[in-house]
Formats: sequence, structure tokens, C-alpha cells
Amino acid sequence: MRAQIVKRAVVAFALAFPGAAIAVAVAAPAAHADGCYTWNRDLYRGLSGNDVRQLQIRVAGWAGRRDIVETDGRYGPKTAAAVKRFQSAYGLRADGIAGSQTYAKLYALQDDDCTPRHFSYPELDDGCGRGGWSGGPLPSATTKENALHTMWKLEALRRDLGDKPLPVTSGYRSTTCNRQVGGASNSQHRYGTAADLGSLESSLCDVARAARDHGFSGIYGPGYPDHDDHVHVDSRRENDDDGIPNTTSWSASDCGIGAG
Ligand SMILES: [Zn+2]
Repeated sequence: MRAQIVKRAVVAFALAFPGAAIAVAVAAPAAHADGCYTWNRDLYRGLSGNDVRQLQIRVAGWAGRRDIVETDGRYGPKTAAAVKRFQSAYGLRADGIAGSQTYAKLYALQDDDCTPRHFSYPELDDGCGRGGWSGGPLPSATTKENALHTMWKLEALRRDLGDKPLPVTSGYRSTTCNRQVGGASNSQHRYGTAADLGSLESSLCDVARAARDHGFSGIYGPGYPDHDDHVHVDSRRENDDDGIPNTTSWSASDCGIGAG
């Protein structure tokens, strides 16, 4: 923010004294040193590329009710709407265009390993204490990437719930771990696409209800068998590796969320 103000002041000076050589010095945009990923252009509808995909990963949690943002690298209407919701959630000008303001917020939110500020790989990795991303149906790198997508959705959910702590009690589970905890045989936890959430600060029903707005196509909570002490969220619609249809599946009858 300070750099922005200084830059503005220098630009004002340069405008007042058009002949001044200092104008040349401010012509180049200030490079942002970010340990994870740096965007080099504004992004908006119609553009495509890996930079769009990187943006989609980070705003997929702002998909809107019962919707998802595909991480396909194409900036379509759903990406624009998600960027708008992200901007609103953080008090930025909500124009659906990803530019310096949006990037500055994303840089502030992401750690050097690309995880969002309030979630980490160790919180999501093998839930039976073994750590790591191996032993599941997918290559470790793919599982870990899925977990990263999950975390960005969780960051959005956490923001929506007032930025209160949202502990993950179980994330990725290797096949062995999943069996050990009695998980469903084809559980989303085995792909890195799921998280079980506890919360001391929000009610579980608040968590389950809010999750509907943040890109989670699988939600199970209070009222669903064995889910009275946590809320399960997952991204089954984006999971093309699990052999089940890419549809929404929600159930938390005690929270007014019907099956379907
Ligand atoms: Zn679960």
C-alpha cells in the first residue's frame, strides 16, 4: 500500500513537470516479490492461460450457491463472478477484473508454498499420522494439488464465517488410513478433495450451510449418519478420477439441508 502511495506521488510530480527525467524511472511497473506465484497482467473475461488457472484455484471458493468454478484456464462468466465475490468479501472494488488490487490481496493471503494463509499442507496430509500424499489411488503430486484446491475453498468458507478458526480434523487419507478410520471405500478423502471440519466458534450447521456457497459439491453434516460431530466437505464434481458422476451431493437434515 505504501509503495502505491509513493508511486502515485511520483506520478503526480512527473505530470506536473513533464520534462523531468524522473518520469522514466517510474514507467516500469514495480515487480512484486512473491514466493509462490506472481501475475504479470490484468485478467478478465475472454483471456486464457496458466495465469487464469492460477487465479481460478484461488477464487474457486467464491463460486456462489451450488456452483463451481472449473480450473480450466479460461476466464468465463463464472470466473468473473467468483472474482467479484472475492473482491466484495475483502472490501475491494468489485469489477470482476483481476488487477493489482486483487493480486495484492491474493499475495497477502498466500504463503510461499501457495497454501492460503490459514491452512497448511501438514493439516491436510495423511490423516492417520503418517504424513505425505502417497498410498492413495492418485499420484502423490495430483493428490497434493487437489488438497491445495481444497484449502483455497476452505479459506473462502472461513472468511465467510467471520474469519474464525476452522480446524480440519481429517483431510487426505491413504487407502490404509481410510480403511483404518472406517471411511467409505471410495471416499473423497482418498483423492485429497475432502476435508472434515470441526468448529468451536461457529455451529456445525453454520459451517454446513455456508459451505453451499463456496464450491463444495459434497457436504455432509449433522443429521447425516456419523456426521453429528463434524462437517464433511468435498469437491466431487471436479473429481474425474473417482468413477462416480460429477454431481452435487449434500445432506445435513438437522441443518435444513436435504439430500440431493
Ligand atoms: Zn469426511
